[in-house]
Amino acid sequence: MIQAPKGTYDVLPSDQGARRTLRAHAERILTAAGYSRIETPAFEPTELFSRGVGAATDIVQKEMYSFDDGAGRSLTLRPEGTAPVCRAYIEHGMHKLPAPVKLWYLSAFFRAENPQRGRYRQFWQVGAEVIGADSPEADAELIVLLGELLEAMGVASVRLRLASLGQPETRGAYRAELTEYLRANAASLSAEVRARIELNPMRAFDSSDPQTRAVMVGAPKLLDRLGPDDAEHFACVRELLDAAGIGYEIDPTLVRGLDYYTRTLFEFTSDSLGAQSGVGGGGRYDRLIEQLGGKSTPGVGWAAGVERILLAAPDQPRAPELVDLLVITAPAGDAPAAGPGGSGDDARAARPAAFELAREARRAGLAAQLELTGRSLKSALKHADRLGARYVAIVNDSQQATLRDMAGGEQQELATGAVVAAILRGKRL
Ligand code: AMP
Repeated sequence: MIQAPKGTYDVLPSDQGARRTLRAHAERILTAAGYSRIETPAFEPTELFSRGVGAATDIVQKEMYSFDDGAGRSLTLRPEGTAPVCRAYIEHGMHKLPAPVKLWYLSAFFRAENPQRGRYRQFWQVGAEVIGADSPEADAELIVLLGELLEAMGVASVRLRLASLGQPETRGAYRAELTEYLRANAASLSAEVRARIELNPMRAFDSSDPQTRAVMVGAPKLLDRLGPDDAEHFACVRELLDAAGIGYEIDPTLVRGLDYYTRTLFEFTSDSLGAQSGVGGGGRYDRLIEQLGGKSTPGVGWAAGVERILLAAPDQPRAPELVDLLVITAPAGDAPAAGPGGSGDDARAARPAAFELAREARRAGLAAQLELTGRSLKSALKHADRLGARYVAIVNDSQQATLRDMAGGEQQELATGAVVAAILRGKRL
């Protein structure tokens, strides 16, 4: 048996209801705030991600599905959405549009990760980007919109963590300062943290070792090293969130696996998710467009995992699938209880009439299906029950049909051509 690749999954018909709900909420919330949908290709030149996301990040180092396009150029299945959206912004000259350009997407992404619950190799993200605005309102608005989406979806136990990274230069100087501090306190650090001082000093903040934690209480914090403009921007974002009544924790240790962030950084988590608790997050990326060859343009955005949202949201209320009418051809010698008997010839003659009736009903706006398997009448009626069909039309010959109201069981004989009108009348009652 051939199976779907490890870490991928099929989105089955039974999964569609919840996904439809998510898409509808995202579309409603983001469209109302002036965001337009964009879809970029599933693969891009590899250098878009090595330059955009950062050559040293985990994503670029070990999680990309890259392949040769046959002409010596390396392409990569997109691992994230911001770099492609910025590429499209530059490529289509969107800087000529009135600023800011507000975009959203709902797409599949690909990362060669170790699959587990909530972590897949092909997954979906809904994302939003504001390009061409550097005001703190843009950051706060995006956070509010993601919060609204999570709330609309009923995501349980949501928490918001917030930080500011300042500028890359600030970060570089801070990293050197932190490394120095860790070196000076190396004797009190766990072996694991000690071994990674040079490689990733920020990880020391995540250690659960009590002695390491004690050392980290006194460690310098990036938030205390922000330049005055960055500190002011961050203070404004916090004020706007406070005014909007959005709760958050300042987390000076918040890190995300993408290099392009400047200033605001945020992440929503859900305690109901276990180990993979990140539902969605994002931040500001004021240098990215320039890094990709565009004019210096500020940007800010987020991406949220569709599977994580659905895992963290209790069952969504779903509208039942509606079937107004199931059209059956009375099989040879098999007549409805109150209808005329159908002979083999009649049944044969009934087929085009039944086919036409289903078409006519759909054209009239009804959800109508034709019975396709040649079931016996009894089993077709059972099938209609399973589908939740409101009416069944048993077409007896080219002229006559029996229309059965499945709720009450009443039947009437009428011309095939009168069935749709009868249902529409019934619908209006
Ligand atoms: P990131 O682009 O890494 O910031 O991820 C944004 C969001 O996408 C995360 O908060 C998750 O909800 C989701 N996500 C990221 N990677 C995966 C994955 N491998 N499988 C499922 N969801 C993911």
